[in-house]
Amino acid sequence: MKYSKQVSLQTHNSFSVHSLCPVMFFPENEEDLCQLTKVLPKSFYILGEGSNTLFVGGESPVIIKPNFRGIKITETLENYIVQVGCSENWHQLVCFCIERGINGLENLALIPGSVGAAPVQNIGAYGVELADFCTSVKWFDFATDKLQLINAEECKFAYRESIFKHSLKNTGIITEVELTFSKSWQPILTYPGLNKLPANVSTQEVMQKVIGLRTSKLPDPEHKPNAGSFFKNPVVDLNFFKLLSDKFGEMPHYPQKNGNIKLAAGWLIDQAGLKGIRQGGVGVHDKQALVLVNFESKKGQDIVNLAAYVQQKVFEKFNIKLRPEVRIVLSEGEVNFQTNDLITSGCS
Ligand SMILES: Cc1cc2nc3c(=O)[nH]c(=O)nc-3n(C[C@H](O)[C@H](O)[C@H](O)COP(=O)(O)OP(=O)(O)OC[C@H]3O[C@@H](n4cnc5c(N)ncnc54)[C@H](O)[C@@H]3O)c2cc1C
Repeated sequence: MKYSKQVSLQTHNSFSVHSLCPVMFFPENEEDLCQLTKVLPKSFYILGEGSNTLFVGGESPVIIKPNFRGIKITETLENYIVQVGCSENWHQLVCFCIERGINGLENLALIPGSVGAAPVQNIGAYGVELADFCTSVKWFDFATDKLQLINAEECKFAYRESIFKHSLKNTGIITEVELTFSKSWQPILTYPGLNKLPANVSTQEVMQKVIGLRTSKLPDPEHKPNAGSFFKNPVVDLNFFKLLSDKFGEMPHYPQKNGNIKLAAGWLIDQAGLKGIRQGGVGVHDKQALVLVNFESKKGQDIVNLAAYVQQKVFEKFNIKLRPEVRIVLSEGEVNFQTNDLITSGCS
């Protein structure tokens, strides 16, 4: 199996922070994975393209960067079935499908990252999420050294959630993702920005609209290093929502199937007066307050400190605790992000 020692991670994470990885393994087949389980230390991290990962501290844990490639298409009378290696790039997969008349992923265009990471947080945008198409994932289980299929129900997909963030975390690797697309495609145009498109719009047009909207709103990590939404949109119960709207007036909100209400974290951050603030070379983006940007820091810790400040201010104003979407990785591995445990300096 291929591996490298003392790898700088700056080009392996979209926040572009410095951290040194002692060993990075690049398994590319089942044999490599079996070999890997024999040498795996207690702490390790599985890395895709690092667009949802924040490394904190000078050294990272051992990193596994799988290299499983390939896209296979089969079809039935009604569906296209697409099986994709985990290391393929997500946006390239979207383009690949649309070019071949396989419709469905257009609303998920331009989301950075790898295909293997997509089920982990059930990526979503513009009213569509991976769970709408994912029928199974191929999973290499470290305990048994075997590949197995995990079906969509077992993946326990929810808003930015799946079993891979919980009971299966660090117990194996997603090597392949299977997506199924109905041949009778209907565009999903419910989301603001898409809802003015005509009903007979083409997939290409929807995709171009999504790309246009995203590029106008989100900073490009190439120029302003970031990891997209830093926090998840909080979900509150109806009673609490009523109290909030009595106090703060009309606020963006999205009723959920179970009666709860999803709020817009970016709006809460903006209302807390934090849009555009800067501290320690990092800041809250001036157009989209949900995005934290690394302007000129080398340290993940600076971003953690800012995130903690944002959490504190939003909590003071709304009594809501924002939870991060981004994975925080210390030398001892991924941690559950309680910023208060990680702050090393104040933020004003
Ligand atoms: C500008 C920008 C915009 C974004 N917009 C969106 C958006 O609209 N919607 C959205 O949902 N997300 C969005 N994101 C977040 C990000 O694109 C997704 O989370 C993406 O899936 C991350 O892919 P990655 O390969 O970079 O993951 P990484 O950051 O490398 O890893 C993320 C998680 O997946 C795990 N993982 C990765 N590969 C595997 C594997 N093969 N097996 C098991 N576990 C694995 C990692 O251990 C980690 O827990 C955005 C990010 C950026 C920078």
